[in-house]
Parts: sequence; structure tokens; C-alpha cells
Amino acid sequence: MVIQSFHEPLQIPNLDLWQVLFERKDRQFPEDKEIYVDPDTKRSYTWTQARDTAIELGRGLKSQWGFKKGDVLGFFSPNNIDYSPVFFGVLWAGGACSTANPTYTVKELAFQMQDSKVAGIVTQMPMLPTVIEAAKIIGLPEDRIILLGDARDPSGKFKHFTEIRSARTGLLAPGRPRLDPKKDTSFLVYSSGTTGLPKGVQLTHTNIVANLIQLAHCELRNGLYHSGPPDGHGDRQIAVLPFFHVYGLTCIALQSIYMGIPVIVLPKFDLDHFCKAIQEYGITYASIPPPVVLALAKHPAVAKYDLSSMRWMNSGAAPLGRDLVEQVWRRLTIPVMQGYGLSETAPVLTKMNIADWARFNGSCGKLLPNIEAKVVDVDTGKELAPGEGEGELWFKGPNVFPGYLNRPELAADTFSEDGFFKTGDIGYADKKGNFYITDRLKELIKYKGFQVAPAELEGILLGHDEIADACVIPAHDRQRETEVPRAYLVLKPGVPRTDEKAAEIVAWIEGKVAQHKRLRGGVRFVDEVPKNASGKLLRRVLKDMARKEDARA
Ligand code: AMP
Repeated sequence: MVIQSFHEPLQIPNLDLWQVLFERKDRQFPEDKEIYVDPDTKRSYTWTQARDTAIELGRGLKSQWGFKKGDVLGFFSPNNIDYSPVFFGVLWAGGACSTANPTYTVKELAFQMQDSKVAGIVTQMPMLPTVIEAAKIIGLPEDRIILLGDARDPSGKFKHFTEIRSARTGLLAPGRPRLDPKKDTSFLVYSSGTTGLPKGVQLTHTNIVANLIQLAHCELRNGLYHSGPPDGHGDRQIAVLPFFHVYGLTCIALQSIYMGIPVIVLPKFDLDHFCKAIQEYGITYASIPPPVVLALAKHPAVAKYDLSSMRWMNSGAAPLGRDLVEQVWRRLTIPVMQGYGLSETAPVLTKMNIADWARFNGSCGKLLPNIEAKVVDVDTGKELAPGEGEGELWFKGPNVFPGYLNRPELAADTFSEDGFFKTGDIGYADKKGNFYITDRLKELIKYKGFQVAPAELEGILLGHDEIADACVIPAHDRQRETEVPRAYLVLKPGVPRTDEKAAEIVAWIEGKVAQHKRLRGGVRFVDEVPKNASGKLLRRVLKDMARKEDARA
């Protein structure tokens, strides 16, 4: 049974992202409205400045690099107000952006940049050494590394993005290529999908345009303002979610300039910095991950600040317990509304409406406009009606990606015959159309909303001299309210199964992976890793074992 959105279907224009953000006629805020604001340097971009900076860069990329339609620029940077104007430059030139986690190791970065065949990488000074090493591995010339942010390269060797510009205007200036919004990629974000290593999720221009329009519809209905109330200037938001992840990208970096909601951009989450900015700038609205909700619910430092300007917060990227939502409400009277989505869906699929919040707290909300869903019984394949029980969640809509980069063989497992995307998440819909996520069929582990692909850690563990077999599954860290990766290992004969050995392996892997992939759930030694007759890892057996172990702890 197909579950339909309760919203009226919306018209999604056949325009690319640049056209929608910078050329549409129905923009409802002034062009000199400040959109991206750095609270430390006080530097900012208005809508016009972001557009003009992007055009200059886009022209520069074309004339100086020969950058053309379909080329890709890699991003390896924490949040900064320059981040969006740089990717707008790429979009102007008809290219796509491959955004990577700036805490990646050289190897992890090289993997993504190689896979997405980047024509260049944009970074900041502190990350430059990692980028230089990764560029060497993939054979990218050093003059294709450029900088954003406030710090410049003192040696002058690496150009700042503002130096890549073309002064040519008028007829001689390089122009924009014509794009096919439904086919051409705007962003390549990396996700392990249901199994294996990270893969390039090709998000078309239409995928992102659709999600912006779907989200704007819901948020306007919830009462978000680009002008007028609450204080005459409309709402203001704050960015702690990273722009390299699809959630921060669409829901903050892009939504702000699409809707004209100014955003205070923070490079990373620091509780005091976050609360101080909310107080100072009268922030009214935020999209955050569950660990920030946890801090707001429990951390003593929160009490030092006046957060009363905040009207509501959205949480997504990982499960959020109902208890935490209630604690935030009791402490701060801020409703936290959960949403749900994936990199593959640009990202939002379901979202809580403010009218439902008090009654259906714990749900991740209702389907966005233009989205259809199925709940499919994992054992029987039966399509379940709302209220009939839980199953794998499948979705169809204009924000659903067309497939993984260079991996056509995955299409059959990723999409159903009738074109629904199989998320690998388990959940259900109640009779009122509220969705609940209860479990995960796929391997993915989420540490504080960041993806950890078990296959990647297992590959590294199997390279250890003393490890014969490995399986990595999510354990639950109750204190930090997050999943953490735990390894079940078979040691080679004669290797002692001691606590010291376990600690040694945990420390060994720390040097090889980005910090969110560390084995925070520890290491357990087993006689064998459970497998089926054809050798497939039976992760579920170990996941259940971990659940029991964690319940006893
Ligand atoms: P990503 O592609 O990194 O955004 O990860 C998507 C995955 O995060 C989903 O498939 C879910 O497993 C998980 N996820 C996202 N939002 C939620 C939520 N509200 N509740 C539970 N899991 C979520």
C-alpha cells in the first residue's frame, strides 16, 4: 500500500539550483539582506554579495582552469561563511561539489576525491597539509588546491578563492552552460548506503531544488518568517551542523539563502559558543543533531545563557529519544521537532509539524509534500498499512537521488521495481500518518549523526597482523546518547585475549581513521564471527548480543 503525503502536491520547476536561488522572480526578501554571518570576524555576505562572488569565481574557474560543465570541485573545510559562495561559483559554472568531512585522514580524503574525480580541492590553512598529501596520492597538481576562509597562505603558493576570478564582463565574459536539472549533478555527498564502503550519492539539481521547496512549504506552515515577526526582521538561524553533510547543506547553507533566513555560521559545535551566539543574535530557529539536544537538556552551562529568543529547533540525522525532547521543553520551553531523511533523499523525507508536536512527540513526523512511502514487511515482502506494523521504509519523490556514482550495479538493490528507494531503515507509520524509526536493517552506524561504515573498519582491522576475522556493529552509548562502533574480533592462534590487547587494538585504529570512526564501543573477542552458509556476516546476531550486553551494563 502506498502512503501519500497529506500535503497538496507542489509544483517543482524544471530549473537548476542557481536559477532557483539567484534568478527567480518571486524572492520575498531584499537583495541586500545579510544571509551568512561570521560571529567572530563579523564578516558577512548579503544575498547579492554571495551571488556576485559566485559569478566572479565561476568565471575565474572557467577562464583560468578551463573548468566546464560536469567538472567537480572537492570541499575539505569546516563551516565558514565562504563555503556557500564558493559552491555557488561551482554551480554557476555548471559543475558539482564533492563535500568531504574535514576531519578525514589523508587516505580517507584521497579515496573520496579520487572517486569523484575532482578538478581541484578547496580547503582552509589548517587542513592544507592533509590536502597536499591527498593531492599527491591522486595526482592532482598543487595549483588546483585553493583556500577559503580568513587565513591566507603566507608563502603565496596556494591561492585564495577570491584570486580565481575573471575581470571580464559583458559579451566577452564566460557564460553559464545550459544544464538539465533532472539529470545533472549539483552535489556529491558520500554515504555507505545499505552496505559496503562510502559511495558518491549523486544529487541532481532537481533533488535539491525539490527538497528546498518541500521544506519551505512545511516551515512556512509552521510559522517561519523571512520578514515581519518575530521582531520585524524575521527569523534567524544558527549553523553548527556541518555543511559537508547533506543535512547542514540543504537545511542550513541552502535553505537560508533560498528563504532569506540569516544564518550565524559556527565552524564547529562548542556549547558556550553556540549558546552565546543564540543570546547575542536573538536566534529564533535551528537545525541540530541529537547530541546538541542532549547538551541543551542536560549541560549545566546552558543555564548561564538567555535562550528565550529560540522558537523551535529541528533535529535529524540520528534517532532522538522522546525523553530528551521533554527535558528540553521543561528546561527551556523550546519544542524540538524531529525529522528524518538520508543523503540519498537530499535529505528530508518526513518532518514534524508544530501542530502535532505535543501529541506525537517521539515521531519523526509526516511525509513532506510530493513524497510517497511504503512500509514493507522484511520477512514476507507484504506492504503494510499505517498502524499495521513495522517494516523497511521505502520512498519515492522528486528529492530521491537517481543512483550512486559509477555504481549502476547497485540500482537493483537500491530501488524497487516500481521505483521506490529502499532506505534500509525499519519503522512504521501510525494511522495519522506519523512516522517512527525503530531500527536499521542496513549495516550503517551513526556516531552523533556522522556515518561510520562497518565495512571500512573491518577492512582496516583485517590488515592487523593478529586479527583473523572481524565484524563491526553499533553499540549504544547511553551517556552520550549515540551509537558507537564496537568490533567483535577473532584473534589468530596464540594471541592472548586480554584487556590490554583490546586496548592496543582500539589505540591502533585511532591513528588510521577520522575521529568519529574510532572504536568507542570497544573490542570484544569471540571464537568466530557468525556467518551464513554463503559466508555473509550475520551482523544481527552480534547486534542482539551487544544490545543484551549493554542492557546488563
Ligand atoms: P545520512 O545519509 O548520513 O543522513 O544518514 C541517514 C541515516 O541516518 C538514515 O538512513 C537513518 O538510519 C539515520 N537517521 C536519520 N534521521 C533519523 C531519525 N530522525 N531517527 C532515526 N534515524 C535517523
